Amino acid sequence: QRNRANDYVHEVYELVKKRNPGEKEFLQATREIFDSLRPVFLKHPKFIHNGILERITEPDRVITFRVSWEDDTGKVQVNRGFRVQFNNSMGPYKGGIRFHPTVNSSIMKFLAFEQTFKNALTGQPIGGGKGGSDFDPKGKSEREIMRFTQSFITELSKYIGADMDVPAGDIGVGKREIGYMFGQYNRLKGGYEAGVFTGKDPNHGGSLGRKEATGYGCVYFVEEMLKETGDSFAGKNVIVSGSGNVATYAMEKAIELGAKVLACSDSNGYILDPNGIDVGTVIQLKELDNKRIQEYTKFHKQATYHEGCTGIWSVPCDIALPCATQNELEEIDASLLIKNGVKAVGEGANMPCTEKAILAFQANGVLFGPAKAANAGGVAVSAMEMSQNSMRLSWTVEEVDDKLKIIMKNIYTSCHDAATSFGYPGNLVVGANIAGFIKVADAMVSHGIH
Ligand code: GLU
Repeated sequence: QRNRANDYVHEVYELVKKRNPGEKEFLQATREIFDSLRPVFLKHPKFIHNGILERITEPDRVITFRVSWEDDTGKVQVNRGFRVQFNNSMGPYKGGIRFHPTVNSSIMKFLAFEQTFKNALTGQPIGGGKGGSDFDPKGKSEREIMRFTQSFITELSKYIGADMDVPAGDIGVGKREIGYMFGQYNRLKGGYEAGVFTGKDPNHGGSLGRKEATGYGCVYFVEEMLKETGDSFAGKNVIVSGSGNVATYAMEKAIELGAKVLACSDSNGYILDPNGIDVGTVIQLKELDNKRIQEYTKFHKQATYHEGCTGIWSVPCDIALPCATQNELEEIDASLLIKNGVKAVGEGANMPCTEKAILAFQANGVLFGPAKAANAGGVAVSAMEMSQNSMRLSWTVEEVDDKLKIIMKNIYTSCHDAATSFGYPGNLVVGANIAGFIKVADAMVSHGIH
């Protein structure tokens, strides 16, 4: 029986490798899940009979399209657009849209695959998807961003809808871009379909608390991990990579819970503030003024700026929250953090730690909260936004935050319990993979083979 489970996982992984040649990130994400699933097939051979692993690793569909737009000089530019509709057995496809020059088919597929399990873990009725473009918003004017975004949605509008596929933001896409997308979608369809996007401005159908949800949720999750060992954020030194939406609100919540945030970063470098980062300045610089993080030192003379973003991992801390992007924390960074006494790591970004970095943390007794559990707060509040849109009601920020706390706690408990019952106590990576997988796989079995 054990051999059968092992062989099955091995065979399907070989198949996935053959089908997706060179797709490094997608293969990394599938390998991580596969490594966790052997005990599941041992306990539930029905998943083998149903060919679940072959089916769950093949997206329902991948839509690729041309996005043509005119820049401010009148030159025609062409980018590539994607939407990966990975799995809708739990609900309509749901996941963000990323505008970043690194976007390609592998990154879109890994994100949509991870999203499927993350969304299942939230306990909300949402399937998994992801989209984006290799368009680089950096250095573009507001009008260029609007024209690009409208062109992007003109094509994508054929494939999305409130009960079909509900995009939101991700790197490079915030409430401004979602506003342009929503406007263009409604113009094309001639209606007002509030539930087609989440992450809208609360002024026109967005949920209060959505902006803060990923960062807050990540801190709530890490607080649960710490609680298990009788600890908390109070009095801890924290470092947070990134300075976007996830990082900013992770810092804000960590500080609210009594921690001191020593450092944060952007893609150029990091700042170190021995007095503790002032989140208000970060919000002003990054969210409102579109400036580089280096400028922080102009307002806080005691702070220092260091070129190169990975240097942040050399700052001694108790808790590290990687909140920038995939594979930003490698094995050598993990070794440095471990040497400097890190106690807990929570992934605010999607797959920010490499496989070897995760193994190093686990081997050294560092509490580790994997992305698909720790950063699920954002999409959980997106699901709440969908509910509010369907009811044509708005909840208060307190109602949203209370629900978010409960969801993060439940996610922690399901990961913790799955890890224990499948023989990996304390391993939340395995726990998250198994708990998410079983939900999606059960739904797929119920829906029959297709
Ligand atoms: N982009 C976010 C994520 O990675 C949020 C997706 C959503 O709200 O749909 O989970």
